[in-house]
Amino acid sequence: MSQKKTVRDYIRTIPDFPKPGIMFRDVTTLFADPRGFRICIDQLLDPFADQRFDKVAALESRGFIMGGAIAHQLNVGFVPIRKKGKLPGATISEEYLLEYGEATMEVHDNAFTPGERVLLVDDLLATGGTAGAGVKLCERLGARIVGCAFIIDLPDLGGRKRLEEMGLRVESLCS
Ligand code: IMP
Repeated sequence: MSQKKTVRDYIRTIPDFPKPGIMFRDVTTLFADPRGFRICIDQLLDPFADQRFDKVAALESRGFIMGGAIAHQLNVGFVPIRKKGKLPGATISEEYLLEYGEATMEVHDNAFTPGERVLLVDDLLATGGTAGAGVKLCERLGARIVGCAFIIDLPDLGGRKRLEEMGLRVESLCS
């Protein structure tokens, strides 16, 4: 009898995207498969089964795909953390460093009530710059990040260490 596919088996790697030398981990093949998507969402939540959340916050853009499904499953609200200039209401922003240059993430300034317990999600953790900015935005609004959940962790790039040094709990499905 053949073994059932794991989350890792549904993810494909595209070499030289978006530029030469980058191995891009593509989760669209995971999301496109009904079983793949379901086990992904279930397994992201498994480590937090004993936790209570008030909101799910997700990072643009692939984080929204998982974040929406997770918020629905937990029956809690969803907060998008977006790239600069995309959110229509009043926002707060955080700049962070990219490999070349910098970027800015934003969240609506009324996204959380102080003390709300938040699960932060994204597809992939690399240097932790993006997730770190997301965490700071939530915390500046008084939210408490109970955990950060990623499908893929690239530990050599230091993101997990960086988030753990911020006192955060980090969970991922494969690395
Ligand atoms: P970091 O800020 O360096 O941790 O990069 C993580 C961000 O870049 C996440 O929002 C990811 O969606 C995105 N990212 C970086 N590399 C990949 C990849 O290989 N596949 C999918 N997303 C990636």
